[in-house]
Amino acid sequence: MNRYFNHSYRISKISRSFHAFRKPKHLKLNYREPDNWNNCNKREIHPFWFIGKTIAQLSAIIGGRFTRKWYAKLSPEKKKELWKRFTWNRVGAAVAILSGGAFANYVYHTEEDPITKRKRFIAVTDDQLQRLVQVETDQILEAKKGEILGSEHPAYDKVISIANTIINRNQDIPLLRNQKWKIYITKSPDVNAMVLPNGNIFVEGGLIDLVGYGDELAFVLSHEIAHAVLKHSAEKISYAMLLDIMIITVMAFLWLFIPSDGIALISQWFYRRVVDIFMHLPYDRKLEEEADEVGLWLAAKACFDVRKGSNFWTIMSMLQKEENTEIPEWLSTHPANLKRQENLDVLMPAAIETRKACNCFPLSKNDPRIQLRMAKSLDEISKEISNPLAK
Ligand SMILES: [Zn+2]
Repeated sequence: MNRYFNHSYRISKISRSFHAFRKPKHLKLNYREPDNWNNCNKREIHPFWFIGKTIAQLSAIIGGRFTRKWYAKLSPEKKKELWKRFTWNRVGAAVAILSGGAFANYVYHTEEDPITKRKRFIAVTDDQLQRLVQVETDQILEAKKGEILGSEHPAYDKVISIANTIINRNQDIPLLRNQKWKIYITKSPDVNAMVLPNGNIFVEGGLIDLVGYGDELAFVLSHEIAHAVLKHSAEKISYAMLLDIMIITVMAFLWLFIPSDGIALISQWFYRRVVDIFMHLPYDRKLEEEADEVGLWLAAKACFDVRKGSNFWTIMSMLQKEENTEIPEWLSTHPANLKRQENLDVLMPAAIETRKACNCFPLSKNDPRIQLRMAKSLDEISKEISNPLAK
């Protein structure tokens, strides 16, 4: 659990003069206007792959169905002749060649993340990713037209100051150091933030309204920066490709062997849902947890009050409860807010140690987590008293 916190703390020697309102070194203000981006990492994969995938899926359905119908129409003699040519040895050899090739490809594209030391499959190059992301960035900016705040808005100075502190205090991470970061703030009431692999960070106005410009926002920005540094977009695209190939292969077999089109269609739908629930969504949640963990570490090195990272998820869970927008974790791309809070609390002692090792100013003795949770309990009790039937 503490694997990130065991890394070097050399960053501690970096001057604290990056705090406060110096002109950002890496950040640029934005003058244009963007879009419809959803919560971090909820984006789906790029349209080019989507078109290719759709063609492959249709080919699998049509090919499987056509072969089944063609076989059904064959005379018994022809079928017998066909089966004579069929040998398990041939099938075995074909399966061995295909799976061997797929495995070699998987191993070739598997690399170790320098921060987490986790092995991950990345099938897209940085260049390919940047090209894909540029198209996506343009679409987002176009769709978000009218919502992005102008660069003269005072919110930029405050958000950039926080982001700048995180970036400058984590200069020992090459990917973070070499990235050009850019902040966009919108006036949308959504409580949201997201990052693109090209370093564009989007912060929705609703998030700032909810948490202000303090340590909670620093944690959210650290979380977003962690997604970019950990190359989660490239990993998600690669994993989605892998699952798509698997889905398309199974679809072809379903349409080949299931005698009724209706049953084949239902089986295909069911199979896709199973893949979503048991493979796609858990993977997304795993990456979110990793971004929380590494984000906490980045925030600790930048001397923020990391305990408020945990508070952020407490606040989010209160908000979701209030708005009745909670969805079961197993159906979500993100872990449940309270689970995220608990995960961070487990990591908190190590994060606090990291702060100390980085020569940060001491944290206040009053733990803000206790204060917030007391307030939350009081709030719940008062609601129960005022509305005893609510429970
Ligand atoms: Zn995220």
